[in-house]
Amino acid sequence: MNMIDPREPISTLKGVGPKKQTILNDFGIHTVEDFLYLFPREYQDRRNVTKIKDVSFGEHALVTARVLVKKTPNFYRKNSPLSLMVEDETGTMEVVFFNGRFLSNLFNQGMEYSFYGKVTENFGRPQMIHPEFSKSGGKDDIRAIIPVYPNIQGFSQKEIRRIQGELRESYPALEEWLPKKTMDEYRLADLIFSMSNLHFPTEGRNVLAAKYRMVFSEFLIMETGLMAMKRGEGGVKEAISFSCEWGDRFASNLSFDLTSGQRDAWERIKSDLEGSHRMNRLLQGDVGSGKTVVAEMAMLSCAKSGYQSVIMAPTEVLAKQHLETFGRDMAPYGIEPKLLISSMDTKEKRKTIEGLASGEHEMLVATHAVLQDNIKFKNLGLVITDEQHRFGVNQRKKLSDKGEGANVLVMTATPIPRTLAVILYGDMDTSQIRTMPEGRKPVQTIALGKEDRASAYNFARNQLREGRQIYVVAPLIEDSESIDALSATGLYNELKETFGGYKVALVHGAMKQDEKDEIMEAFSKGDIHVLVSTVVIEVGINVPNATVMIIENSERFGLAQLHQLRGRVGRGSHESYCYLLSDNDSEIALKRREIMCKTNDGFEIAEEDMALRGPGEIFGVRQHGAMQPMLSDMVKHIDVLEDAQNAAKDILDVDPRLEMPENQNLKDRVTKMFGEELDLLL
Ligand code: ADP
Ligand code: MG
Repeated sequence: MNMIDPREPISTLKGVGPKKQTILNDFGIHTVEDFLYLFPREYQDRRNVTKIKDVSFGEHALVTARVLVKKTPNFYRKNSPLSLMVEDETGTMEVVFFNGRFLSNLFNQGMEYSFYGKVTENFGRPQMIHPEFSKSGGKDDIRAIIPVYPNIQGFSQKEIRRIQGELRESYPALEEWLPKKTMDEYRLADLIFSMSNLHFPTEGRNVLAAKYRMVFSEFLIMETGLMAMKRGEGGVKEAISFSCEWGDRFASNLSFDLTSGQRDAWERIKSDLEGSHRMNRLLQGDVGSGKTVVAEMAMLSCAKSGYQSVIMAPTEVLAKQHLETFGRDMAPYGIEPKLLISSMDTKEKRKTIEGLASGEHEMLVATHAVLQDNIKFKNLGLVITDEQHRFGVNQRKKLSDKGEGANVLVMTATPIPRTLAVILYGDMDTSQIRTMPEGRKPVQTIALGKEDRASAYNFARNQLREGRQIYVVAPLIEDSESIDALSATGLYNELKETFGGYKVALVHGAMKQDEKDEIMEAFSKGDIHVLVSTVVIEVGINVPNATVMIIENSERFGLAQLHQLRGRVGRGSHESYCYLLSDNDSEIALKRREIMCKTNDGFEIAEEDMALRGPGEIFGVRQHGAMQPMLSDMVKHIDVLEDAQNAAKDILDVDPRLEMPENQNLKDRVTKMFGEELDLLL
């Protein structure tokens, strides 16, 4: 017998060609093992057979019956149906398969089969069209507890079950990776037991035990990784503290008043910075809530007290934008912020690096280029990470390590629900800005079906006539055969026509960084009127003149993403609009659209997002994509997460670097989820 190695790529499976491989990859399934972690989203108990006289029209039923008459399809006609008249001791029913040519010889007259499907009415008599079926007593008898897997395009339930069945062979190669002590303490089922009971259930309570183990262990990996990082970050260092009176002065010289949310956040930050302990604070605030000003107040205070400070942004465009803002705002105070990004020319870069090392440069705006080892500061007092969700936790740590005792402020526009915040950022103090600057009008959000698409673009044209600018976002870069969604490239070609006379440009993730930057800058200056893109514009860019955001195939974006995208407009004094276009009427898509139309509050959206999707994607760590549905189900039981957190704590207390033999398999998992950089810490 050739045993399947769980580490093999998914393409080694029979029936998984390039097309299906792409679909599975999109689902987070790359290896055979990932496929094993594709767990059922629910179970149907089909152990109860319904008698034919008791079936109800419109409902699903499992019927066991003998084939009485078989009407063989015409072999020379495509789509010729196969029709069976079946009977049990209470009555008869018709079973129809279209395109029955291939199924015909699976049925023998007089033999008994089970059929599962929706019962429909045919001239007052029961009928099943395309039911699932099996021979009675066969090895794949459908009279059982049947797992129902998440829907994956191109895969029938039957096919997923077939593959799971074949993969059973690989179970012996699965290695238990939970430490024995943890398993005992939390009474966790072992890996192989859990796998087989989830995919081949026999009893409800075993399924529950298996589910608990899987969810617990996934949380354990997550918590162990996060906690290891937090601990690596900690350590009692002499804190740098300084006066914040210049920050106050900065605020009073602004042309606007701080919002109450900004004032509160600043008061907290100020007391951290002036106090004796090292600031370690997360500042959450919706897109446009004005976090940058608060950062400026802190950085100015820092510079005026003789310390250096740095703000790190996730993209070069954002860094440049910050440099412009900071340059303008700091000039009256005699401070000149410097820039550090990878695309700078070497000479300039070297000069900046020297200035940082000598302490001559007091304020820096950077991308992750600043994380390189050769970049040193003389007396770093404050590090700020902007749009933290775009960085790994490890990068955040690397930045704060640049300065002994430097204060840390992390800013994010992706609000996370309170329960999760406690767990994710348990070591940090958190502040939220929940108010918007005055005069900011909420973005009007309109959900439209594809048939009303034209009205969105007509509206956009009117806005263009008034001198405004437009964003159009599509999920794909290029048209794809396997994915039914619009691409930015396709739309760009279409919209060049639609908006003849206006400058339309395309930007997407596969383009070179400097190309992207150039286009973003041109859009920012108003030289481009319509910007067609993939989600690359998601983060931070500020073009107040843009008033319309059209999102095509909006069902393909998560709530947080939609909210971020919408935040690109409504940044100026003009009324702004967001069109969510979609033909997808799945429950989750409808719910998302409803939430988006209902509220502009990022925190509310985050809560809803978690309820809909589970914490996985929100955590921003890599994990078995296939486990998402199960995790979202379990997040209602936040106590599992807490248990896992306690278990992680116990493990790390005894073995802080996961060096003990019994923790090696766990360590592998943690590194896989968090990436190699965690090696530095463990
Ligand atoms: P974000 O929190 O998304 O980073 P920004 O800091 O970029 O938001 O602020 C968005 C815009 O709002 C900027 O143009 C900024 O100057 C302006 N702004 C910030 N605070 C206020 C305020 N209190 N009143 C009016 N405008 C403000
Ligand atoms: Mg910002």
